[in-house]
Amino acid sequence: MSIIDGKKVASHIKDKLAAEVKILKTKTGKTPGLAVVLVGDDPASAVYVKNKNKTCTNIGFQSFEHILSENTSEDKLLNLINDLNNDDQVNGILVQLPLPSHISSKKILVAINPQKDVDGFHLENVGRLVTGNALFKPCTPAGIIKLLDEYKIEIEGKNAVIIGRSNIVGKPVSFLLLERNATVTICHSRTKDLSSLSRSADILIAAIGKPNFVTPDMVKNNAVVIDVGINRLDGKLVGDVDFASVSKQASFITPVPGGVGPMTIAMLMENTFQAFKNSL
Ligand code: NAP
Repeated sequence: MSIIDGKKVASHIKDKLAAEVKILKTKTGKTPGLAVVLVGDDPASAVYVKNKNKTCTNIGFQSFEHILSENTSEDKLLNLINDLNNDDQVNGILVQLPLPSHISSKKILVAINPQKDVDGFHLENVGRLVTGNALFKPCTPAGIIKLLDEYKIEIEGKNAVIIGRSNIVGKPVSFLLLERNATVTICHSRTKDLSSLSRSADILIAAIGKPNFVTPDMVKNNAVVIDVGINRLDGKLVGDVDFASVSKQASFITPVPGGVGPMTIAMLMENTFQAFKNSL
C-alpha cells in the first residue's frame, strides 16, 4: 500500500506558482488577487479563510479578506460582490460556504462574475464543467484528479465509485472522472446495497461527512481509496474512511489530514492564477 501525500504534491504546486507569480510581476508589475468573503463566525470556516489568506501571502498573491457579521443582509453581500466584480485588483472571488440561512447561496454564487468564480460554483461554470469546457474546475475535485495523475494512477476504463453527491465534491468529481473515461457510479444515502457497489470500485472516493464510514468489507483488494471527509472525532481530525483497516487492503490511499485537504487550497491558488492570466 502507498500513501498518497497530498501535502507534498500541494507544496510543489504552490512553489511552482510562487515562481511564476514572480516572473509575471517582473513583466507586468501586477500580482494576482484573491478576495475571500466570510459571513458569520463559524470557527471551522474562520480557520479555512485564515489558511487561504496565509497561502496567498506565501506565494505572492494579494489577499483581500472580507469578514462580515452573521446578520449581514443579502443586499449588503450582493453589493460587496458587485464591488469585487468591478475591482481590477481582484482576480478571484471566494464566498465561504455555508452562508447564514437568511442569505440565498444560490443568489450569491450567481452574482459572482463567472470569470472570477475560482471555486467554479457559478451555474455558468457548472454547465461548462458538465460539457467538458470548464473555465475553473471546482477545487476539491480538481485536487483529487491531480493526485491521481501525480501518482500515475490510471483513470481511463476504471470503475470509479463515488459515495456522496454534493454539488461541491460528489457531482463535480464524477464529471471530471467521466471526462477522463472512467465508468462512474454515484452513491448517496438512498443507494441500495452500497457495499456491493463500492466493492466494484477500482477507484473509490468517499465524500460523505461521516467519520470512519468506509470499512474494509466495502473495499475491493488493491483499490485506490480517496478520502475527502474531514470530521472531528474525540478532538482529532479523521476522514470518512477507516484508515487503519482500509489501508491494509488498498493499493493507494489518501490520509486525513494530509491527503485531499491541502490540494483544495493549492487548486484554489491555481484557479486564481489562471483568472489573473486571463485578465492580462
Ligand atoms: P454533503 O453536502 O453533506 O454531502 C454528503 C453526501 O453523502 C450526500 O450526498 C449524502 O447523500 C451522502 N451520504 C450521507 N450519508 C450516507 C450514507 N449513509 N450512505 C451513502 N451516502 C451517504 O457533504 P460534502 O460537502 O460533499 O462533504 C463531504 C465531506 O467532505 C465532509 O466531511 C466535508 O467536510 C469534506 N470536505 C472536504 C474537503 C477538502 O478539502 N478535503 C472539501 C469539501 C468537503 P444524500 O445526498 O442522499 O443526502
